[in-house]
Amino acid sequence: MFENLSEKLQRSFKTLRGQGTITEENISDAMREIRLALLESDVNLEVVKDLVEHIRVKAMGTQVTTALSPSEQIVKIVHDELVTLLGKDIAKFRTASQPPSVVLMAGLQGSGKTTTSAKLAQWLKKGGHRPMLVSVDVYRPAARAQLAVVAKSTGVNLYEGKLDESVQNGTPEVLRLAKEAKKEAANFGCDILIVDTAGRLGIDAVLMDEMAELKKLLNPSEILFVADAMTGQDAVNSAKAFNDLLTITGAILTKMDGDARGGAALSIRQVTGAPIKFLGTGEKPDAFEPFHPDRIVSRIMG
Ligand code: GDP
Repeated sequence: MFENLSEKLQRSFKTLRGQGTITEENISDAMREIRLALLESDVNLEVVKDLVEHIRVKAMGTQVTTALSPSEQIVKIVHDELVTLLGKDIAKFRTASQPPSVVLMAGLQGSGKTTTSAKLAQWLKKGGHRPMLVSVDVYRPAARAQLAVVAKSTGVNLYEGKLDESVQNGTPEVLRLAKEAKKEAANFGCDILIVDTAGRLGIDAVLMDEMAELKKLLNPSEILFVADAMTGQDAVNSAKAFNDLLTITGAILTKMDGDARGGAALSIRQVTGAPIKFLGTGEKPDAFEPFHPDRIVSRIMG
């Protein structure tokens, strides 16, 4: 049967009871368990090394008290370190001082970017905002149509715009559409414009240049990287690539209703320095929630 990290730690500390001090020798089994559990949870190797070292330093010399067993003390140290790494507080959604605020959605194709754009719009609407959605994916008509369908089903404003058939679709068209949408949002009294961008199967230079141009044009208050939690280390690598170019303001982990252990959250946070802001927990528009560091840590530790 699946044994979670807390249980593994309890087991590796069975021999250490009563009063005493946690030492290098009696902690080595526990450190191995922590290392394995973090790797199994999809935490990036470099992040694991750092974390384990922090935990080891904290744990060593800890006095074993009668109030907590050694394993409970280690579980607490690991828990606190993970929460610290993720940022203790729920990261705020940022808006611009002058509406409309722009949210630029970034990520690879299939990560859940379009679904998440609509979910975010609905969440903002529930919070009293007046969002508008636009898809600037001029390369895939199906992507624009998909956003139109979800916008309609959730009753969120959508700027459809018209593609100019006399020009070849490309970055100039993307920028034109984005600019028009921002103007339309302002005219329509919408305070937040969510821009769903074109995704590619991998990081490619054209996509990245286009994202950089969009950032320059729109001056977004949020650049949110959408990552499929099920893709583990790949999500971490693309988060890094997007962050190097765009300096993302946050990440959204989708498909957390699957069996992903959540380690990608730790790694993305550590590798980009940006907070995880939301989680996607299903295909429906309301399967979406602000990210709570504590919950993901519980998921990793069991
Ligand atoms: P995009 O290519 O990045 O725009 O991705 P889509 O928004 O089209 O999503 C790709 C697939 O993932 C679709 O089938 C979505 O229904 C699904 N999806 C998106 N977010 C979630 C989620 O949080 N949970 C689950 N189970 N599926 C999701």
